[in-house]
Amino acid sequence: MSSINKVLIVGGGIGGLSLGIALRRAGIDAEIVEIQKEFNVYGVGIIQQANALRALDALGVADETLHRGSPYGKVKMCAPTGHQFGETGPPPIGRFPSHNGISRRILHDILYNAAVENGVVFRMGLTVSSIENEETQVNVTFTDGTEGVYQLVVGADGINSKVRNIVFGEQNPKYIGSSVWRYAFKRPEELETGYMYFGRKTKLGLIPMTDDTIYMFVVSAEGDDNPFIPEDELVSRLKAYVSQYPVKMVADLVEQITDPKGVIYRPLETLVMPAPWYKNRVVILGDAAHATIPQLGSGAALAIEDAVVLAEELAKDQSVETVLETYMHRRYDRCKMVCDASMQLAEWERMEWNGIPLPEGANMGALMGKTLFALTQPI
Ligand SMILES: Cc1cc2nc3c(=O)[nH]c(=O)nc-3n(C[C@H](O)[C@H](O)[C@H](O)COP(=O)(O)OP(=O)(O)OC[C@H]3O[C@@H](n4cnc5c(N)ncnc54)[C@H](O)[C@@H]3O)c2cc1C
Repeated sequence: MSSINKVLIVGGGIGGLSLGIALRRAGIDAEIVEIQKEFNVYGVGIIQQANALRALDALGVADETLHRGSPYGKVKMCAPTGHQFGETGPPPIGRFPSHNGISRRILHDILYNAAVENGVVFRMGLTVSSIENEETQVNVTFTDGTEGVYQLVVGADGINSKVRNIVFGEQNPKYIGSSVWRYAFKRPEELETGYMYFGRKTKLGLIPMTDDTIYMFVVSAEGDDNPFIPEDELVSRLKAYVSQYPVKMVADLVEQITDPKGVIYRPLETLVMPAPWYKNRVVILGDAAHATIPQLGSGAALAIEDAVVLAEELAKDQSVETVLETYMHRRYDRCKMVCDASMQLAEWERMEWNGIPLPEGANMGALMGKTLFALTQPI
């Protein structure tokens, strides 16, 4: 094992919980500080490709994730009228199917329970107020006035990471001009896999979450300024977008969109930190390091993989410098590939919605297929 046996993880989201589990399984003490007093995970779903399941298997939770989620094969790519013109998704990896759809709340529950069972220590409603990042240790002061000394601090605190901003200087995520709307529904009987409909001004997806539930996403372009949409307009605007798809399975859902609190609207932002994602004894992972937009549904998968790789390297008998260098080497190109391809897809989508011809050779299906296939390669 490296000389590290006590790690502070800032942020208890998908990446932080995964790292906590992975470290404890490697015999390393892990403490998570989470800014929320109680976890409050929103009630729509998340797409997990086979590589996400493979990484969850390294944490011992893939089977439960499949059992409590909804495994499915390739996603059907359709015209707005429902005519299928292709399919997308990675090939299965061993026993892991092309995709698993799962509720974010259930995924969080699985990871949280595994973290507690493995002995991760949680401190809720707390964050760091200062970080003294020395060559061999990190002295941390918390917002409740307590202090701690750690051999390694990991910023897993998401796209607006405070750890990143303290250690690497202020970085601001960039709004990309597209937004995502999501809503959960009872599962239509005829839905047997994921669907994506490419409309003239939006894109709409239907994703299984459990045997009985699905969620819908709609990607739209809401203008160049990061647009705030008042709560009392959320239902009517989402319904208007969904009504543009004359497909029975979609049309049947329109009248079920009634609860403004159930509409999860999110302008899309991205931020990719240049390498290296570490300085002395502080390292960042997940969205703190590489927040991608969800055009490939892979941001959480990357966060879980980051956690698995970092813990694997920490478990080896090597210097901390080698651990962090190797972590970068194993993660940077892969994460950047997903972020870049996702941005390209979003740009082509917006060009199509604005009637601008795509450059020669632009092929969304091919780019999606190529990138998702690359993610099946070992981490
Ligand atoms: C619209 C949308 C759809 C998406 N769909 C998919 C998908 O289908 N599949 C997929 O793989 N990915 C998807 N993603 C990406 C995925 O949600 C993220 O990549 C993933 O959540 C990143 O995990 P994380 O742990 O790095 O960050 P987060 O999930 O943001 O977790 C950060 C945690 O840190 C806490 N925190 C924040 N600040 C502090 C602080 N200062 N101190 C302490 N704690 C703090 C937060 O409360 C939170 O618990 C999607 C993203 C978006 C925006």
